[in-house]
Amino acid sequence: MEGPSLHLAAEQLQPFAGRRIESVSGNSKIGIERLPGLKVLEIFAWGKHLVFQFETFALRVHFMLWGTFAATVRGKSVTGDYRRTGPPRLVLNFPNGEITIWAASVKFVEDPHAKAAYDFSADIMADEWNGRAALAKVRAFPRAEIADVLLDQAIFGGVGNIIKNEVLFRTRVSPFVKVRNIPARKLRAIVADARTFSFRFLELRRIFSLRKNLEIYRRSVCPRCGGKVERRVHGQRARRSFFCVKCQKVRISELSRTPTPRSQSGTSIRTDAPRGARVRTRRSRPRAQS
Ligand SMILES: [Zn+2]
Repeated sequence: MEGPSLHLAAEQLQPFAGRRIESVSGNSKIGIERLPGLKVLEIFAWGKHLVFQFETFALRVHFMLWGTFAATVRGKSVTGDYRRTGPPRLVLNFPNGEITIWAASVKFVEDPHAKAAYDFSADIMADEWNGRAALAKVRAFPRAEIADVLLDQAIFGGVGNIIKNEVLFRTRVSPFVKVRNIPARKLRAIVADARTFSFRFLELRRIFSLRKNLEIYRRSVCPRCGGKVERRVHGQRARRSFFCVKCQKVRISELSRTPTPRSQSGTSIRTDAPRGARVRTRRSRPRAQS
């Protein structure tokens, strides 16, 4: 799930703020039995984290690529159409409903004020977001491919692969181009659109219309020129880019430098894959949650 979905999740889960957990279940091994009887003081999102603050510690949920959740308040579902995968990692039961979390990384943070440790100026959805600071941080990586930099959570907290691809298409920038080769005006436009598009993502998520409104992510035909949408796994992060060679002015030399997909998207070794995540192969690669 990307930042806007987490922002929406924190909003949807507010009925549980101030409530006590009655019971818990799930396959998490972090010691969830400490939770029953505790009151949730605050629920907030930062980037791709969702945090439940208790009196002396916090529970941090990181949804990674496949994590998903659902919640009901007084018997009514308050969450979206996220796909469910396997047995729940964690179920929190409250007097007014329950929250179920699948395939996410859950962790206790021994801090009575976990929020203070987060830099909200680097959260793409936060009121404190600082685009000028983000631009300066981007420029500190002149030799990095722009697609990699956009996924850097210390710069663009909350930006995931969907937002990355859409922003690069909307600003007509090749995902392979290095930061030092992007004109200043264009770089400013990319940073600004990361914020603008994230809020559009939020509104589309809210009305369950995200997928059909994406222009380049998982598309086959470019909505602007009618050309073929290409896809490549590339960069330090080995993430997939979807792009139009013509509209985003992708140089043939950039494409030829790209490693062949075989070396990168076969059985992949990802350090951030949640426990229990399926081993991905080229053929059975599941869609990441959005
Ligand atoms: Zn095009």
